[in-house]
Amino acid sequence: MAEAPLLDTFGRLHDNLRISVTDRCNIRCFYCMPEDGVKFMPRQEILSFEEIARVARVAVSMGVRKLRLTGGEPLLRKDLPVLIEKLTAIPGVEDIALTTNAVLLSDQAADLYKAGLRRLNVHLDTLDRDRFFQITRRDDFNKVMAGIDTALSLGFGPIKINAVAVKNLVEPDIVPLARFGRERGIEIRYIEFMPLDAQGIWDKAKVLLQDDMIRLLSTAIGPLEEIPDRDPRAPASEYRFADGVGRVGFISSVSHPFCLNCNRIRLTSDGKLRYCLFAIEETDVKGLLRGNASDDEIRATIRETVTRKWIGHEINSQKFVAPPRPMYSIGG
Ligand code: SAM
Ligand code: SF4
Repeated sequence: MAEAPLLDTFGRLHDNLRISVTDRCNIRCFYCMPEDGVKFMPRQEILSFEEIARVARVAVSMGVRKLRLTGGEPLLRKDLPVLIEKLTAIPGVEDIALTTNAVLLSDQAADLYKAGLRRLNVHLDTLDRDRFFQITRRDDFNKVMAGIDTALSLGFGPIKINAVAVKNLVEPDIVPLARFGRERGIEIRYIEFMPLDAQGIWDKAKVLLQDDMIRLLSTAIGPLEEIPDRDPRAPASEYRFADGVGRVGFISSVSHPFCLNCNRIRLTSDGKLRYCLFAIEETDVKGLLRGNASDDEIRATIRETVTRKWIGHEINSQKFVAPPRPMYSIGG
C-alpha cells in the first residue's frame, strides 16, 4: 500500500530532508561556533553512510524528494562522494544539494561532480579578506574563492552563496556580493542572523534586516522585483534586478518568518530527527538503526516527528527559547 504523504497537523507537506554529516568544522564563524574549546561528538556517535542512506531511503518512501547535505563542514567527512552516490541511487530522489564553506572545495569538487552532485550553496559573507578573517577566525578567504572558481569551471549549477547578515558588520559587503553574483550567474542569499550561535551573543539588534538590505541594493545597483513564479515553499524570498541581470534571495527568519510554508525535516549527524531548526525536542533514530529496528519502525518515527511539529518558531516573542544545540551541531 502506498504511504500517506508526510503531512503535519497544520497540513504542511514534508518532502525535504536536510542531513548533517558531521558537527566538525575547519573554520570558526562567530555566529555559529565558539573560537576554541569546541567539544565535537565522538566518531562512534556519528551515523555511518549506510545508516544515513537507510534513513534517507525510508524518508523517500514517505514522499521526501529533496536532500541537502550539511554540517558542520560536510567536506570534512571522509569520502563524501561515496555518500552522494548512495543517495543519488535511491529511486525517487529528485534533488540533492550541498551546503559548504568551500574551504576544501577546489580539492574535492571534481569527485563530488562525478558522484552526481550539481547544486551547491557556498557560504561566504564578504569579499574582504580581513573581514573574512574577523568573521571566521581563519585566513581561508583565498581557498573559498578558489573553490567557487573550480565549481564554476566544472559546471556545477545552480551555485548559490549564503551570506549571513549581521548588523554593523556586513553592510559594506551586501552590494559587492550582489555584484559578484551578477557577474557570475550566482544567486546571493542573505540570511538574517539567527539565534543559533554557540555563545549566546544573538540579539535582535544585531540582525541586518531584509528591508535594509533591499534598500542598500536598490540604491547602489537598481530596483529589485519580486520573482512571481517562485516555489512558495522555498525559504528564501527571491528577487531579480529590474535590468534582468542577477537574482538575490533573503532568508529572513527574523523579519519575514516562513514557517507556514515549511517542508523540511532534519537528521543530525548523531542520528536525531528534528522537525525545526529551532526545535527544543528531537527524536532518536540512531537507537533504531543500531537496534535492528525494521523500516516500518523508522517510518513510524519519522511520521511521529512530523506530527509533533509546531506551527513555527517564536524568535519574535518573549517566549522564545534558543535550542540547546548551536547551528554547527544541528546542521544548518
Ligand atoms: N559549514 C557549512 C556552511 O557554513 O555553509 C554548512 C553548515 S552551516 C551551519 C550552514 C549555514 O548556516 C551556513 O551557510 C551559514 O550561512 C548559516 N549560519 C550559520 N550560523 C548562522 C546563524 N547564527 N544565523 C544565520 N545563519 C547561520
Ligand atoms: Fe563552520 Fe558553517 Fe558554522 Fe561557519 S557556519 S562555523 S563554516 S559550520
